[in-house]
Amino acid sequence: MRLYSRMRTAGDPAVRAAWIFLTGLVAGCSVWTTHFIAMLAYDSGLETGFLPLGTLASLLIAVVFMAAAFGAASSAPGRAGKVAGGVLAGVGVASMHYCGMSAYVTQGALSWDLPIVTASLAISLVGSIAAMFVAQDAGTRRLQLLGGLVLTLAICGLHFTGMGAITVTPDAAVHVPAQLLSSGMMTLSVALIVSLIILTALGAVLIEGGANAQAVERIRRLADAAYEGIVVVRGDRIQDANAAFCALAGAEVAELAALRLEGDLLSFDDEGAPLDTRREGMLTPRGGGAPIPVDAFARVLQTGRRTGEEADLVVLAVRDLRERRSAEEKIRYLAEHDGLTGLANRNVMQSRLAHALEQASVSGDGVAVICIDLDHFKEANDLHGHLAGDAILTEVARRLRASVVAPSFAARLGGDEFVVVQIGGGEQPAAAAELCANLLEVLGAPVEFNDQPLQVGASLGVSLYREDGETGEALLANADMALYRAKEDGRGGYCFFKREMDETIRERRTLARELRQAIVQEELVLHYQPLARAQDGEVCGFEALVRWRHPQRGMVPPMEFIPVAEESGLILPLGEWVMRRACADAAVWEKPLRIAVNLSPVQLNQPNLPAVVHEILLETGLAPRRLELEVTETALFKDYQRALDNLRRLKALGVRIAMDDFGTGFSSLSTLQSFPFDKIKIDKSFVENIHRHDRATAIVRAVLSLGRSLEIPVTAEGVETAEQLEFLRGEACAEVQGYAIGRPAPVDALEGWTDEAVRKALAG
Ligand code: C2E
Ligand code: MG
Ligand code: MG
Repeated sequence: MRLYSRMRTAGDPAVRAAWIFLTGLVAGCSVWTTHFIAMLAYDSGLETGFLPLGTLASLLIAVVFMAAAFGAASSAPGRAGKVAGGVLAGVGVASMHYCGMSAYVTQGALSWDLPIVTASLAISLVGSIAAMFVAQDAGTRRLQLLGGLVLTLAICGLHFTGMGAITVTPDAAVHVPAQLLSSGMMTLSVALIVSLIILTALGAVLIEGGANAQAVERIRRLADAAYEGIVVVRGDRIQDANAAFCALAGAEVAELAALRLEGDLLSFDDEGAPLDTRREGMLTPRGGGAPIPVDAFARVLQTGRRTGEEADLVVLAVRDLRERRSAEEKIRYLAEHDGLTGLANRNVMQSRLAHALEQASVSGDGVAVICIDLDHFKEANDLHGHLAGDAILTEVARRLRASVVAPSFAARLGGDEFVVVQIGGGEQPAAAAELCANLLEVLGAPVEFNDQPLQVGASLGVSLYREDGETGEALLANADMALYRAKEDGRGGYCFFKREMDETIRERRTLARELRQAIVQEELVLHYQPLARAQDGEVCGFEALVRWRHPQRGMVPPMEFIPVAEESGLILPLGEWVMRRACADAAVWEKPLRIAVNLSPVQLNQPNLPAVVHEILLETGLAPRRLELEVTETALFKDYQRALDNLRRLKALGVRIAMDDFGTGFSSLSTLQSFPFDKIKIDKSFVENIHRHDRATAIVRAVLSLGRSLEIPVTAEGVETAEQLEFLRGEACAEVQGYAIGRPAPVDALEGWTDEAVRKALAG
């Protein structure tokens, strides 16, 4: 029965066949030995013997039938197999017995009682079938014992009933073959050989079982070491699970064994999916706690048909998806958000804006797009380093987030560009105006960095859904344009988009584009305007004034393109070109006259300005003393420290610094105090009003006397008349510049600027 149980679970057909053979051998030998030894014990009082052929045949019959019986019982599932097995065993036992009896020879005639023979057959059949049913799959010791007992009873029942059917009538004429061995020896040797066979087979089962147990232990250790949860189920019932699965489920194997996998523990998203596909679902831990997202992949270990069970034995690999889910979440977050500030990035902003517009087109709600540019971000970044820049950006993001109520949202497009999309929020444009005012106030507060307050502030440009654009793209472009205007109008304000902006801005963009080419294609020229000593009219220098000889527009004055150049950053190459050209021109003049060059605020805030100037001086060979750089007050105040620093370094090169357009800036006196200027140029707006407005006259006088007391020579700009000249001379003005002395002219016209001509002009 133990062999039988082992044979049932063998997977490999060859192994199974071997087990069937062994089972047949052991069972057949047992049956045959029972018969043979009992026959040896049967003493009829007459001489007896065994015909060798028949005796051997009966052994063969027993082995073959028993193998067939157990083979049949194990291959057909359910009742059919058991009946078939039982019948084969019953018939086998009977055939063996009567075949054995036919080889039994005794000195007499045997007569048979048929009813008893029939009864013996019935006992054999019924007993064998009963044995198969009692044994079931012989899976446990109990079943093996019971099954074995019933089968033994059937065998013995047949034998002793069958023996009861014989009557021996002595007959001396019957010839009995001589026995090779005495019946005692025969009994001993048969019992020995058969026991050996049975023990060998049993040994095989035990050894194999031990190896199996080791293998099982090894597999369990392997399974427990696995990172994935592994669970074995039959039907719904959990049979076994590894450590990882127990940890996941929050229960021991013993507790799990009472549970149904699906229903008590797991629920799959796709119930109907085939077993061997990857299925995702939720695992609810036993001890409570949040459901765990898992995926499972199942494989059939053993079909139920083979073992006579209703359901297959299935193993599932169950994977905890929490880590992967959170990684996926992180990746999605990174893809959708700006890494530094955590605000939505451009992509997400665009799709959320598009979605909002779609909804607004139905609901009629307002949507406003507000483009934000930080006013002094670059300076703070340059001056205090990138950490300061990062601190400003994160703080700005925090303030934006706090000022915006969902579904409105803020996003960072990159650099110091932010966008707020206002969704709903009330009547437009009032709602957007209110939000803008709020944002300006919030962003106007300084940002603390290393216990140092950094002033930022912002400019805002607004566009409104439908009026200013139907698509996100158009709204963004127009808000950007409004922002451009807001910055131009002076920073720290907001501006709504207007149709005209489109026009002027497009115009300026074209101009910027053309200017870029103009610098490369040398369409820029320098004109020089003389500066003369007021007392005797001696020319002491020239101011370089840039002109653009535009192929279509003609001569474009600097007032029109310098602002464009400053906005677009083109002022840097342009300014460098002017400086190089002016220095190169002046370097070859006969007289070592001064050359004045105007510096834009943008240039003055370039950290490398002194280096650039130094390089140009070396390159052109112009003596530093001859170069005079004109700066305005406004230029100084853009970034006071940086500008002053640059001016000091320039001065250290030996270059002269002049204050241009004096009187038009803010606090002239403190500026003059903070830096030792070499010259003050009174703006032409005061000079032209000499004698016309008392105030202007007074201012010119005051500036001249200020220059005297600070010992800074003063130049008057825009001197057009002899009257003005007369007045300035009277007030001891050092230098004059203006149409009265000479208009700006190309370099080749400078030949005419002899002192003689100037004196004549002044006298005239
Ligand atoms: P600015 O530096 O104050 O230059 C003097 C301006 O006054 C020049 O105008 C000049 O032509 C004009 N002017 C000279 N004498 C008279 C006069 O008697 N009457 C009147 N009404 N005007 C007179 P321009 O050349 O149009 O330049 C205007 C401004 O453009 C300059 O003012 C300067 O700030 C800027 N600029 C010119 N060239 C350059 C340059 O190369 N680089 C930079 N950054 N700015 C420049
Ligand atoms: Mg100037
Ligand atoms: Mg000026």
